[in-house]
Amino acid sequence: MTRCTVSAYFLRPMIRRQLAARARTSITAVLTRRLAIAVALSAILVCSFTPVSSYTGAERQALQRSIVDKRSQLNPKFKKVKRKSTRFIIVHTSEGGVNSTLRVVSRGKQIRRSYRTYGGHAHYVVSRSGRVYRTLDKRYIADHAGRSMWNGQTDISKISIGIELVGYHYGDITDKQYRSVGLLIDILQRIYDLDDSAVLTHSQVAYGKPNRWVKKSHRGRKRCAKNFDHQQAELAPTWPFDPDVKAGRLVPDTELASIYYAPRTARTRTKSNNVISGTNTAWRIAGDEYDLPTTLYRLPSGKTIPGDEVEARIGWNHIPKNTVVLLNQLENGRRDGDRGPVKHLDNGHTAWDIAGFEYNKASTFYFFPQGRVANGREVSDWDGLPANTRMIVGYRGPYKVTASKPAGIIAGDSYNKRDTLYYFPNRKIVSGDTVRDFKRLPRGVLIFLPKRG
Ligand SMILES: [Zn+2]
Repeated sequence: MTRCTVSAYFLRPMIRRQLAARARTSITAVLTRRLAIAVALSAILVCSFTPVSSYTGAERQALQRSIVDKRSQLNPKFKKVKRKSTRFIIVHTSEGGVNSTLRVVSRGKQIRRSYRTYGGHAHYVVSRSGRVYRTLDKRYIADHAGRSMWNGQTDISKISIGIELVGYHYGDITDKQYRSVGLLIDILQRIYDLDDSAVLTHSQVAYGKPNRWVKKSHRGRKRCAKNFDHQQAELAPTWPFDPDVKAGRLVPDTELASIYYAPRTARTRTKSNNVISGTNTAWRIAGDEYDLPTTLYRLPSGKTIPGDEVEARIGWNHIPKNTVVLLNQLENGRRDGDRGPVKHLDNGHTAWDIAGFEYNKASTFYFFPQGRVANGREVSDWDGLPANTRMIVGYRGPYKVTASKPAGIIAGDSYNKRDTLYYFPNRKIVSGDTVRDFKRLPRGVLIFLPKRG
């Protein structure tokens, strides 16, 4: 909900100034000032507790009715503890697809044998098509914020609701997600009497202990939901400063500070990505997950190295530029199998993992197991991409081979090249260099040509 943007934290210094002034003035002036303070205080109350929202009661009810209950999936080993107070709503991005998000949130994380959690990592999950799942009863403490601090208050999980948006902090959040999460937040704000300043992202509240990248306690441990735009969720702009940085408890992270707290005009909302460059380091992309075995580094050579082996195999300062960093790759190994231009979607990987920002472009093609072919613009159900869907990225087409338009006319000199792809009616995708007889291509073969070259 968008409430009065003049929140309590803006007014507090004003009142403090008034109280200081009061000590210096006469009795009548004191009474006048008291009146002014009373008016100011009631304004704060009215601002904080009178919802001014663009959502209707009917919309809120419809969302509540549509919530899919997944509470029964919760890991029985998760210990339910009732939350004593609720002061924040924390938004996360899950860095995965809907199925793996739901599984991890409910059942927990298992990273090889060394580390595991018992689920209960969020109260709600919002899929890319805007469906809301309830994964833990909102009465209980969810294990979602980890080492965290806001305004001097630590362990934010104990006093907050956690919402996971299916998607990536370096990706986009869909309009349907914004609408659903906006409504959900609106509902929760009414229940817990929270104004918009109570809605924060995980990367705003997470902090890290000194490490190899930063020498002091710092922001930047998480990048989670740094792409969450409060205004697109019908919320007032976030805090104008980071209270813990201001108080000297933490050192800022330059990127996060410029996203959240820079003056509106100077704010940098450049699209970030998950590709290593001079400034985009492993730390900046993955935060404290940089050295987990489930964070994979796909080198330009095609080789993939898990985070816990980077130090030994190449060293953190020698990761080549253009290495792609993939988070939450719970199922290991499959990536190396996809060496050619045709990539396979399976449970552990999403279209985003494979295509990045290209995932919804017209030059990315999806070959569904049932035979349908669609480009990224034609796909709408991003949560429902079946396993074993194949993908190609950076292509144009399809061009149908006919008697009057043989492969040589369509593809020119590159008709027999490896990157030229032939999609056969039996659903096989064959590279130009392995087609046996171009004169006997079956009817209805489709050709896909690389966009460049
Ligand atoms: Zn998070």
